Parts: sequence; C-alpha cells; structure tokens
Amino acid sequence: MSVRLRFAPSPTGHLHVGNVRTALVNFLFTRQQGGIFMLRMDDTDAERSTGAFADAIEEDLRWLGLKWDTSAHQSHRTEAYDAAVARLKASGRLYPCYETAQELELRRKVLLSRGLPPVYERTALALTAEDKARLEAEGRRPHWRFLLNREPVTWQDGVRGAVTFDTATLSDPVLVREDGTLLYTLPSCVDDIDFHITHVFRGEDHVTNTAAQIEIFRALGGTPPQFAHFALLTGAGGEGLSKRAGSLAIRDLRARGIEPMAINSLLARIGTSEPVEPFADLAPLVYSFDMATFGRSAARFDPNDLELLNARIVHQLHYSAVADRLPGVTEALWDAVRANLGKVSDALEWLRIVEGPISPVVEDADYLRQAAELLPPLPWDASSWGEWTAAIKQATGRKGRDLFHPLRLALTGKEQGPEMKLLLPQIGPRQVRERLTSS
Ligand code: GLU
Repeated sequence: MSVRLRFAPSPTGHLHVGNVRTALVNFLFTRQQGGIFMLRMDDTDAERSTGAFADAIEEDLRWLGLKWDTSAHQSHRTEAYDAAVARLKASGRLYPCYETAQELELRRKVLLSRGLPPVYERTALALTAEDKARLEAEGRRPHWRFLLNREPVTWQDGVRGAVTFDTATLSDPVLVREDGTLLYTLPSCVDDIDFHITHVFRGEDHVTNTAAQIEIFRALGGTPPQFAHFALLTGAGGEGLSKRAGSLAIRDLRARGIEPMAINSLLARIGTSEPVEPFADLAPLVYSFDMATFGRSAARFDPNDLELLNARIVHQLHYSAVADRLPGVTEALWDAVRANLGKVSDALEWLRIVEGPISPVVEDADYLRQAAELLPPLPWDASSWGEWTAAIKQATGRKGRDLFHPLRLALTGKEQGPEMKLLLPQIGPRQVRERLTSS
C-alpha cells in the first residue's frame, strides 16, 4: 500500500517557517515513497479560520513548490464527525460534563495545592439521569469528554523511538464544546482514518495528544498511523519561534527577496545530522530525506543563515529562472553580476549603475584621464579589462589597489561589486569614457 500523509494547517494565520518545516517533512517523505500528499485545512474553528488565510496558505505552498495531490476541508466534513461522536457516545467513550470553566479552574487549584496532578476527576461520570435533567433545566449544556483507558499507550516514534505515555496522567480530553462545536482532536483522528493516512509527522508539541489520539483511533475501529514528532524550531537565541512568527511568515520572506529553495534547503536540513546546502530544486532533498537523521534537541533557526543560503542559491540561478522578474536585465548582465548578489532583485541596482547616469567617485582626475587615453580597441569582451589595466600599469607604474580601485570607483560609484572585466563591456565605451573624464 502506498503511503499517505497530510499537512494539516489551521487557516487562522499565515504560514511561517515553523509550519512550513512540517509541510516539507511530510512532502519530502511522501515524494520519496511515491505516496499521496494531502493538504487538509483544519478549519473547524469558524471564528478564527478564514478563507483568505486558506487561500494564502495554498499560494505560499505553491510558491515553495510543495504541491499536494488531494485536499480536504474539515468544515465540509461535519457529517463524518457527527457520526463519530454518535458512535463514541453509544459505546460510552464520550460522556457529558456540566462543569463551568470557573468550577474546573477551582478544582485544578485545589488539586495543585494538595500536591496532586491537576487531572479531571471524572465527577460527571457519577451524575444520574435526574442530576443531568436538573442541570439542563438550569440552562447548563454539556461538553463531552473522551473516557481514556488510563493505561500505558506505546508507539514507535520515527524520531523519538519507543514512547510510552500513560493516559492515567491525562485529563479525559474534551472533544465537543457546550455549543456543539468540535475541538481539533476528534476531527483529526476521523480524517486520518477516513483518508487512510499512514504516517503523521508533526512537531513535538503534539506528543501529549498522541496517546489520547491513539485511544480514539482504536475506539473508532481505526488503526493508528505511524507517528514521528520532531523537535521544534527555536529562534537563534533559543526562544520560542511563535513570538517572532510574524516576521518569519513565508510571504514576508518572499517580499524580502528570499528564494523558495533557500527556505526549503534550510528547513529540510535544520535539526538533522545532514549538512545544509544550497539546493536548486527539491529532487536532491527528496532522495536524501531520512527521518533517522532528525535530532531530538531543538533546532535553531537563524534568519542570517537563510540570507547567506539565499545568496548561494541566487549565485547559481540561470537567467531563464529570473528573467521575468528583472525587466531590462540581459543574460550577459545577469551573468556579470549574479555572483555578487544577495537577492535576485539586487540585479536591478546593477542595471541602474550600468545604464547610468551615476555619480562617479573621482579621487585622482589626472589618473582617470590618462586611463581613458589607454582604453583598448572595440569591440570589448571579457579580455578587454585585462588588456586595458596592463596598458595602464605599464604607462603609470601603478599596481594592485592603486591601479584598480580608482577605476572601479569612477566606473560604478561603488566600493565593491561584480568583477570589472564583466562589467566593463556592460557599461560600454561611451559611458566609460564619460565617467573617466567627468571632472
Ligand atoms: N492543525 C493541527 C496543527 O496545526 C494539526 C496537527 C496534526 O498534524 O495532527 O497543529
């Protein structure tokens, strides 16, 4: 049977590096195994989920190249969840509770003050039919909890190895709220069963859900998928990423000129024992994906690493991959400047410099006038700069920085930049002469 995995974002915000890493891990494994990759919108929270966020998530995934084979929206699957609720009620695994949030909080504090774990005491299980009728007559509506088996649950985790979690340490999870709406836990299990999901790869913030979810899978007659929980990303200083998630939104990185493959290359390898390398496409990441390389300690995400990797990817990009983003930039100009760029759009700055007008920086006007006299014959190519500077050296006795730097300053107005032998033919004879003799 082929593997089936899902990426299940809640469309309550934009994708950021943390959840894209989850998407990528699921995508890479699925592609490597030749399976089916599903995009599942966990949009049961009607107040916080929006169609605009769902659209933005799809747009970001497409931009990253993480194509899904099939998709589902939880908001369209209410019937399946209602059937599961009915089934769990019928088997006695879902029971009504009437405590208010304040009552629960008070109980929690009492337990904690006695040094006891704040686990729900199942008081509602003792309610008689009359008690319930009385509470309902008072206007209370039940929320529904799943009756855990209170026993050790074991699974073989793809990252953490054999994990045993005793559900006696957990409160029976609330699956249905007072108003009848569902929390994430049950729809996720129902979908994983109905869509035949074989593997669930997600962040370790879900480890505590997993034991309860395994019990829910079984209570619904399903087989739990294989789980792997990888360590979460933290900021460069070890802080939680969520604090800065805004600035690490994929659309902001995109607006800042970060290439999709820089994001993919970093996120596929961060927190693993494999080196981070600038990959031009997803194929090598698919071939090399191996869950066994994921470590258990938090992976630090440093935006500077992303910038550096981005530059290395930009240096490799062929003109055809960037031409439509760079109106006016020719292939020759792209090839002249790309090795110096941090971002693709920086090429436009070099187009401006090459086309002029610029303000040449003139330190020694006599030297520049003399250099202008020695310009090599046309047409210019990549060897013209060498010919020219050899002639200047001969005539002036200058060498090294004294020879080259004033020429760069005059011709580009910049301290640094692409190789002059490539820029010289781009700037062209008329402007070169003008810039050398501007004062
Ligand atoms: N919507 C959940 C989340 O984003 C999905 C978790 C899961 O993969 O089961 O955390």
